[in-house]
This record gives sequence, structure tokens and C-alpha cells, in this order.
Amino acid sequence: GEHRSETPVIVSGMSVVGFDLGFQSCYVAVARAGGIETVANEYSDRCTPSFVSFGPRNRSIGAAAKSQVVTNCKNTVQSFKQFHGRAFSDSYVQSAKSNLVYDLAQMPSGSTGIKVMYMEEERVFSIEQVTGMLLTKLKETAESALKKPVADCVISVPSYFTDAERRSVMDAAQIAGLNCLRLMNETTAVTLAYGIYKQDLPAPEEKPRIVVFVDLGHSGYQVSVCAFNKGKLKILATAFDSELGGKDFDDILVNHFCEEFGKKYKLDVKSKPRALVRLYQECEKLKKLMSANSSDLPLNIECFMNDIDVSSKLNRGQFEEMCAGLLAKVEGPLRSVMEQTKLKKEDIYAVEIVGGASRIPAIKERISKFFGKELSTTLNADEAVARGCALQCAILSPAFKVREFSITDVVPYSISLKWNSAAEEGLSDCEVFPKNHAAPFSKVLTFYRKEPFTLEAYYNSPKELPYPSATIGRFLIQNVVPQASGESAKVKVKVRVNVHGVFSVSSASLVEVLKTAEGEEPMETDQTPKEEEVCVLCVYALGTTTEDAKQEKKNDQPPQAKKPKVKTKTVELPIENNLDWQLSSEVLNMFVENEGKMIMQDKLEKERNDAKNNVEEYVYDMRDKLHGVLEKFVNEDRDTFSLKLEDTENWLYEDGEDQQKQVYIDKLAELKKMGQPIHERYMEAEERPKAFEDLGRQIQMYMKIIEAYKAKDEQYDHLDELEVTRVDKHVNDAMVWMNSKMNQQNSQDLTLDPVVKVEEIKAKTKEIYSACNPVVSKPKPKVEPPKEEKTENGPVNGQEGTENQPCNPDKAMPAGTEQETAENKLPEMDID
Ligand code: ATP
Ligand code: MG
Repeated sequence: GEHRSETPVIVSGMSVVGFDLGFQSCYVAVARAGGIETVANEYSDRCTPSFVSFGPRNRSIGAAAKSQVVTNCKNTVQSFKQFHGRAFSDSYVQSAKSNLVYDLAQMPSGSTGIKVMYMEEERVFSIEQVTGMLLTKLKETAESALKKPVADCVISVPSYFTDAERRSVMDAAQIAGLNCLRLMNETTAVTLAYGIYKQDLPAPEEKPRIVVFVDLGHSGYQVSVCAFNKGKLKILATAFDSELGGKDFDDILVNHFCEEFGKKYKLDVKSKPRALVRLYQECEKLKKLMSANSSDLPLNIECFMNDIDVSSKLNRGQFEEMCAGLLAKVEGPLRSVMEQTKLKKEDIYAVEIVGGASRIPAIKERISKFFGKELSTTLNADEAVARGCALQCAILSPAFKVREFSITDVVPYSISLKWNSAAEEGLSDCEVFPKNHAAPFSKVLTFYRKEPFTLEAYYNSPKELPYPSATIGRFLIQNVVPQASGESAKVKVKVRVNVHGVFSVSSASLVEVLKTAEGEEPMETDQTPKEEEVCVLCVYALGTTTEDAKQEKKNDQPPQAKKPKVKTKTVELPIENNLDWQLSSEVLNMFVENEGKMIMQDKLEKERNDAKNNVEEYVYDMRDKLHGVLEKFVNEDRDTFSLKLEDTENWLYEDGEDQQKQVYIDKLAELKKMGQPIHERYMEAEERPKAFEDLGRQIQMYMKIIEAYKAKDEQYDHLDELEVTRVDKHVNDAMVWMNSKMNQQNSQDLTLDPVVKVEEIKAKTKEIYSACNPVVSKPKPKVEPPKEEKTENGPVNGQEGTENQPCNPDKAMPAGTEQETAENKLPEMDID
């Protein structure tokens, strides 16, 4: 039994992110100044497939992994959400195993791992590591959208997940370096995304608005009933079927076609993982098409197996017939929530449906028929979960101001505690959280004990669990000693279902009764509970995690004020947790470290690949250009260069296929050494006309000013004659220089280096400017407003001689513009 305290909640408020960790695909939502936004990944897709693919040099995650599902099927992992918190020997895992094309393996702890070839080695990764990898990808997506590091987040899980499954997802988050502020039930996230924007909810004292939410995803079917009032939502009940989801419809289609192709083409599809994966892809496409179309639809796969092309067809009617058994299961959870809440169908204000598979017409029909009303689809069916999680994260984050909204979830399965009881000579037992009890929630229990004791928490109605073990964990309350009098000591134990929906014995304390003020025998005023009896002392709901801590303090203070005669002292007792399938801290730390190494490896591999791609791109680019824009600028070196490019291309497919990053960098440098001079000649020729033009314009302008000066123009009569003569000479020299360079260049062969570089021309332009500008733009001496004496020069020119003012070639923008732009870029403020 190892003690692992819960992850501390660091409210750093740095990032506000919600992750919908779906069975088939994930979504990332962030809070920004504009509000909540679902963000796209590097493929500009808001949906990131829940796939991880392992290669000889790196991992690919998300869309890049999904694209390898056929080519690298044994090492491309999907549908792994179902293995969280499960033993390898779990019958569910064993039966799922036969439908997978990748291998599962047992972890040393007995939990489920996946076996793949990675870095040319056989490796077994725990489920937490694989989900950690997926979360790493989602985290990067959020980081590139927010342009800052991401740690704080809210992650979704199905409402029917048990403690072991939830703890496993929490560990995955930690492996990815995420600080999960709350594991949020998927349907609860949806209720928040629905309710927080509603302006017309009933006032707190009025009858709440009851809405049913249905999420039909790839792996499961979840229903929840929620009561809304202004500023709050309360989940009343949940129900589910974890064997009714999009994938179950896919399975039926796949089995149907396996059978058909077995007969028609004598193919044993299930013996060929690649073929099976392709059939799954095609069946899913067909399923989606059938949602929109009721006519016959074709299914064709070329070169399916043994070089055989297969083809078939199906229509919606036939499909619904095949799925009759599945469709019959739609009603169960609906009936269940109605029974649990004792609500009547008239009480339901709306039925909102989300999840990809909620688009299947036969499902919609059944739900709609059950409630006798049209279904609402006001939420984004794919993104509502992620958006709800981001909203919850914003509520928890001090960096964001969000409308007050209180969220009360439920305990999905009733939880009992049992312990050894000396009085009853055996086990005592007590239900601490009945099903649908509000969560998060804490309760304080009192025990009278002389020695350390163990509490075992378990789900007391195992039939409801989609999970084989009812045990949650054992909690050993240590360091319990009798009172000085030899009697049993009073031990207060706080149990709770925390924000993640996870049960824990969060603290225990020994209450020592000290001497009373009058020296009397200490006396408890309440009827002292019998030895071994458990009694609920105080009960309070937890708001946010931070409030939680505050309230605990308040409630744990001994009630001295009420009973001045009794002085008590509270001693915190250590608790040893023994939780099913909990990773030890050493193992978890090792996973965190390994994830870091793998991220680094992926990064190095990416850089290596980029270096290789740069060589390849240069080869193709140059080859094109040699026959295009560069043609005029290549001399006899063309053939050597062409040959070199061709050699390099071949090399890339042979020896150069798999080299170190530096090899590619060197190769590129080698090519550039030949290509650069040609490219430079081309660039020079491109830019030269403009450079000459600028210089010419400048020369002309100064010439005009000198002419005007010579013609005794009033505007310039304050200029110094000697200086003007110098300017005159400068400008003339420049003109001579320019004309001669232009002439020389015009007769120069383009395949030779230019006689003058663009840089030199630009330098000449600058030089003239610095030599001439101070002279000609000298302001006219300021003349005091005429008192009596007239100025010889006549009235002062109001304008500052800007008309012919040359502009400084150094300055691209007029002054002032820069400042304005900076002001426009004020950091955006937080949303309200
Ligand atoms: P889960 O919620 O179970 O973890 P998920 O969130 O990944 O899974 P969703 O993305 O909500 O699941 O739904 C995916 C499922 O919806 C897939 O089975 C997909 O084939 C199915 N689906 C999507 N669009 C349609 C459609 N138009 N018709 C039928 N099924 C569809
Ligand atoms: Mg989902």
C-alpha cells in the first residue's frame, strides 16, 4: 500500500483549456478575450483523431497517426479509452482484444498495456502513457492556439467512469504535464455549455427548467437529466449504456460484410488486420452516408485481399433491420432517468442531443418517440463537450471573469464503506454516498477506536457497474491510540467525492479530550455514539476546490465555543491509501520522464526530416528554375549543376534516405555553393533597375534644387554658396558614376557577376543623401514677428520647405506611424 496524495491544485490561472478526450476523436476548446473557441490543429481541423502510431524513429499522434492505420496497422493504436483502469485479465479487455489489430499486454501491476514496435524495439506502454501521448498532442494544439504554455485544463470523461478509470485518466494528464483542475463528466460539460448562455432561466426560487441531455458517441450512450435555475445547474440523474455507440453499429456492418465476402469471395477478412481496418473505414463511411440517404448505397474496396476487388451495397432500411437489437437498447437509459427522477414526460422542457452517432435517424426517432417531442439540436454535436470543459476551466480560473454559475453533479453509483467491528464481531457497513447524491461533497464520520483501522470503500450495487470489480480502495487510518484513560479515542474521518468524481478518505484526525477548566471529568454533551458506531457529524457540499480547503478548516475546528468546559486537541492522522490500479509515484514519475524523452525524440526526428525535406525541396526548386527564371544567368556551369542536382535526388532515395540531420545540412550547403552565385545574379538583375531608378530620382531632385538656387529662387536664398557648390559637385560625380555603371552593366553578360551590386547602388543613394540633405534642407532662419524693422528676406515661409524635401532612404515609414501601430496592439483584456 503506497500513499499517494491527490495532485495539488495549483490555481495559476495561466491557461483556460477544455479537452474532450473522446473514444474516436478529441476536441480542444480555449477561452480567449472573445469567449470560448474550439481550436483547430495543425491540419486546420478542429477534430483530432484519438490515434497514436509508433514508428522506427518517432511517434505520430492524431491525424498523422490515423493516416497510418492501414500502412502501419499493428503499431497504430486506437480505441484505447476503454482500457483505462482495467486489469488485463478483465473479461471486457479480453473480449475487446479479439477485435483489435494491435496487441495488448499485461503491465507488471496487472493493468492493461499495449504492445507495439517503437524505435525498432518491442515496447509495452501503459494505457496512461498512451492517453498521455494523445494529451501531449492536444496540449500542443492548445499551446499553438494560445501562443503560451498550457498546464491548467479541464478534461472530460464519461459520466459512468468508475474511480479506477478516472484516476487512470488523471495520471495520463499528469504524464502529459497537465494540471487537470477537474475531470468533468461529458454530459455535465454539455449541460454547462447549454445553460451558461441562457438568459431566461427560472429564478432560483421558481420551478427549475428540466432538460434531458443525450450524448451518443463512438463508444457509449449517456443520458442525463438536469435542472436549471438562474445561475445554477443541478444534475438529477444519469444513465448509460456503454455498449451502445457508433462503434457498435460499425461492428454490425463489418460482421455483415465479413460474412458476405466470406461467401461471395471466399475471403477470411478477420485473418488479415489490414483488410479488416480498411473494411472498418469503409463501413463507417457507409454508415454516415446512410444517415443522410435512404436509397441503396454501394460499398466498394479495390484490391481488398488477395488482389480481389470487393463490392456490395446496402440501404438504410436493411441497416436498421440488422441493428434492431442495438436500437432496442436506446430506450433503457431514457426510462431509467425518468424512473430515478420520478419526473413525468410533461416536466421535460427539452431534449438536447449531441455526439456524432446521434445523427443516426433511427436513434433520433426512438428518442423523440419516447419523449413525445421534437429533439433539440441547439448545441454543436461534436464540440459541446470541449466547450463545456473550457467554460468550467474559465470558472475555476482566477484569470477569467465568468458569470456566476454553480454546477452540482451526481454520484453515479452508490458508495459504501465497510470496516472491522469489534462490537458486532465482524464487518460493519454503511452507505456513505447513495446514487445520485450531490457531488462534489464531503462528509465527516466519527469512529471510536483504540488502534489503527481500515476502511474499505466499494460500490454497493455491482450490477449497475460496467466494470468487474466493486472495490474502490482500502484506507488505513494510522497512529490511532487510546485516550489517556484507556478508553477509545474519538477519530474523525472525512470522506469525499471530489471534483473529479473520485472517492477518497481525504483526512482523519484524533480528537483528544484535555482537562476541563474546572478540573471536572471531561464530558461530551451530545449522546456519545456507541463504540464502533459510525455517525455523520457534519455534511457540506464543496464548491470549487479552493473554497473546499477554506470550508474544511472552518468545519474541522473543535466546537469549543459551545462547550467551554471541554478542551480538545486535534491531531492529524496519516492515511495509507490502497487504491485499485493506482500507479505508484515511482512508476508515474518514470512515465513523466519517458514522455519527456519521447517528445524530445519526436522533435529531433522532425528536425531531421525537415533538414531532409529542405534538400529535396532545393533540388526540385533549382531544377525547375534552371529551365525557368535562372536560365539566362547560367553559363557553362549549368550541366555540372544539373548533374549534381540529379545525383542528389538519386542519393535521397538511396544512401541519403536515412541520414543524420547534419548530413542533410551539409548536403544543402554543398548544393547552395553552386546554386547561390546563379541565384544571386538573378536576384541582382531583378532588383538592379529599381535601385538605379531610386538613385536617379534622388540625383535629379538635388539637381533641381541647385538649379533653383542658381536661379535665385527665394526659397533657397538662405543656403550657403560654398556648401551648395559642394553639393553640386557631389551630385555630378554621382551621375557620372551611375551612367558609367549602367553602361558597363548593360554590356555585361548576364552569366557573369554584375559590375555593380545592388548594395553598392543603394549605398551610393544613401551617401548622396547624407552629403546633400543637411545642406539643402537647412531651414530658413526664423524671423521674429515684425516689430518695426522689416526682414530683408520677406515673410517667413510657413511651410517648412517640405515640398522638395528628399526623404531619408533609411526610413521606410513616416515617423509617427510606428507609434500608432504599437498603441493598437494593446494587450487584450479578459472577457466578462
Ligand atoms: P465517446 O463520446 O464515446 O468517447 P467520441 O466522442 O469520439 O466517443 P463522437 O465524435 O461523438 O464520439 O461520435 C463519433 C461516432 O459518431 C462515430 O461512430 C461516427 O461514425 C459517428 N457518426 C458521426 N457522424 C455520423 C453520421 N452522420 N451518421 C452516423 N454516425 C455518425
Ligand atoms: Mg464524446
